[in-house]
Amino acid sequence: MSPYIGRFAPSPTGPLHIGSLLSAVASWCDARAAHGKWLLRIEDVDTTRIQAGAVDHILQSLEHYGLWWDDEVVYQSQRTELYQDALNDLQQQQHIFWCTCSRADLARTGSAIYTGTCRKQLSPRPLAAARMRVYQQAISFKDHVFGTQTEQLDQTTGDFVIFRRDGLFAYQLAVVVDDYLQGVTHVVRGADLLDNTARQIYLQRRLGFPTPQYMHIPLVVNANGEKLSKQTGANALPFNSSTRLLWQTLVHLGQCPPNELQSETVTTVLSWAVQHWQPAAIPQQIKLATL
Ligand SMILES: [Zn+2]
Repeated sequence: MSPYIGRFAPSPTGPLHIGSLLSAVASWCDARAAHGKWLLRIEDVDTTRIQAGAVDHILQSLEHYGLWWDDEVVYQSQRTELYQDALNDLQQQQHIFWCTCSRADLARTGSAIYTGTCRKQLSPRPLAAARMRVYQQAISFKDHVFGTQTEQLDQTTGDFVIFRRDGLFAYQLAVVVDDYLQGVTHVVRGADLLDNTARQIYLQRRLGFPTPQYMHIPLVVNANGEKLSKQTGANALPFNSSTRLLWQTLVHLGQCPPNELQSETVTTVLSWAVQHWQPAAIPQQIKLATL
């Protein structure tokens, strides 16, 4: 048995909100209950989307809610050489090709699935994106909340981008390389990334990396069933009433914390949560109306 290594990997595109807290708490409890490590990685590989001050707010929020991490914080923006190594490896194995389609070219195909136009362009060229060559092959994995998932990438995304035309590495490649190099064994994250998992497993297999365990935490939806996110204006986590919010988070994660915990400190609430951690009790949907 390898030791448990978990991680929390927020993008600094805005402050943490209630949905991010759910994922952070679930990931933290799962790691601590297994006596594992919990790493913090700032996913700022897409430097065009970074919001000023967001990293500081994320770090302060985690400290405030008692979610301490192990080791140094890792920043994707400082790891481009590692992503380049992986890209070179994939290039050498001819798993990628170079796509010069413009956004308009892609739109003209009328398909959300890449149609394979540039598959014969095997050498790197300027202003081109690198795409993974995708084969007809079903990818299955067991998610610890949503059950067995199966996806056939040639029918959902087609050949997907791992290096962008603007010279940035794509999120999919960065995540896979980082999880591998950091020795991550368990990925606990928001369900908005559930449909990214098959692409990441595909990449892991092509790069010869092991596949971690996956557990996706349901997204918080409002009374209209709309997903709560930075885009829909979810509020930044407050720095007051943190015990109560943590307690509510545990309720929403199906953990049934006792009422009297609400008047305790965040440390006491979290240590109760670790001692009583029941990942099997996490529901598949969480409604904001009950928050
Ligand atoms: Zn193309």
